[in-house]
This record gives sequence, C-alpha cells and structure tokens, in this order.
Amino acid sequence: MRLRLPEERPTEPPTGYKIAHPVLSQDGTRAGFTGVSLGGALPYGVLADASCVYGLRHRAPNRRCDCGFHCVHDRAAAEALLCTAEHRTAVLLDVLVLGRYLRFELGFRYARQRVRTATVGACACGAVAAALADAGWGRPGWRALAPSCAGCLRGRTAVSLAGFARLAGEGLRVVARPAAVPVHGVPGLPEELGVPELAAEAALLQARLDWFQSQLARLGQGGPDGGPQGG
Ligand SMILES: [Zn+2]
Ligand SMILES: [Zn+2]
Repeated sequence: MRLRLPEERPTEPPTGYKIAHPVLSQDGTRAGFTGVSLGGALPYGVLADASCVYGLRHRAPNRRCDCGFHCVHDRAAAEALLCTAEHRTAVLLDVLVLGRYLRFELGFRYARQRVRTATVGACACGAVAAALADAGWGRPGWRALAPSCAGCLRGRTAVSLAGFARLAGEGLRVVARPAAVPVHGVPGLPEELGVPELAAEAALLQARLDWFQSQLARLGQGGPDGGPQGG
C-alpha cells in the first residue's frame, strides 16, 4: 500500500517567490520571463501553464519528474539567490500558485502560475533602475533584459518598467527596488562616520577627481577634434 499525503483544498491560491530573467520578444511586442535553472529555455508569460521540460507526456507537475513551475515560500530565500554572480540581474517575482501543486519543505512545484509583481534590482552602477535593457544574451526569439538607470542605457534596446508591465499584460506590476544608498550619498558609506573616516573618503574622492581632471586635460591637448598632435 502506498501512503499518500492529504490533498489540500485552499480557499485562496497559495503565494510564493522566485527569481527569473525578464525577456522581450524579438519584435518588441511581448514581454515575459525565463527561469534561471530548470526550464530556463522556455520563456513564460504572466499567466502560464507548465509543461514537462523533458517533453514527457504527463501533466506537470508529476511526482516522478521534476517538471512544473517552482517557487519558494519565503521572500528572503528567493532574494538570497540574487546574490550569485549569474543571477545579479534577475528580478524577484511574487507569484500566485494556481492549479495542481506539490508542496515541499521550501516551496511548491505546480501547474499554473500568475506573476503578480516583478521587483527590479539596481542598475550595475548602483542607481535605481528606470528601465530594463538588452542584457546581451537571450533565447531564440527573446532578448534577456537587465535593470538599467537612464544614464547607463547608451542606445541599447530597452523598455521602461511601466512599458514592460504593459507588454507583459495581465495586470503585472513592475517596481524598482530602492537603491541601497541615497543617490547623492557616497556609495558604501555608513551615516555615522567619524572625522578620520570622512577624511579618508575625502582623500579618495580627491584622487578620483585628480584622475578625472588629468583625463580631461589630456583630451584638451590634441583631442579628437583635431588639435595639434604630437609626434
Ligand atoms: Zn515531467
Ligand atoms: Zn546605471
């Protein structure tokens, strides 16, 4: 005789968290997500049904397979995954678990999913993201996107956070995670520094400014617009 766990019949769909890379279709008219591990090859929309990633003819999730959507119960556990180098530009998704699901210790494996909110991390420069821009990789027909501030877009294909939400549809909310440091603050500086620490920071900033001015001066003598060239 096989022991079975009791079937759950929740009145409200369970919720969970996961991370994914935002993607934009090649023609720029559709937006969705692609997973970071299993199933990463199959982009999905805001409301989507899982299919077996191995192409097996069973409904996902299946007890003897590891297919289906995955999420964890705890937001902090999902955020922890964003620390690794390869996941730095992924976004945090808050999802509704729909359809059949299997519960495990840390989360769910399930058949149908609605992404409610995507939280976009900071631009690589540290500023709050204003857009999702071409990340330089993708899947056939889909460009992966990464958070970017306005200053770092530099002509890349990009959509604003609101634009991504509109293309993804189904009432998706896309929000930017606030920057870890105030925009006008000095990155990494705690508020309660004493005079020696501030003096050391000032010296560092002065060194950077000196370097910047030397670069400017170099460009000024024989720069790109045809000043006198030496040698
Ligand atoms: Zn399967
Ligand atoms: Zn930036």
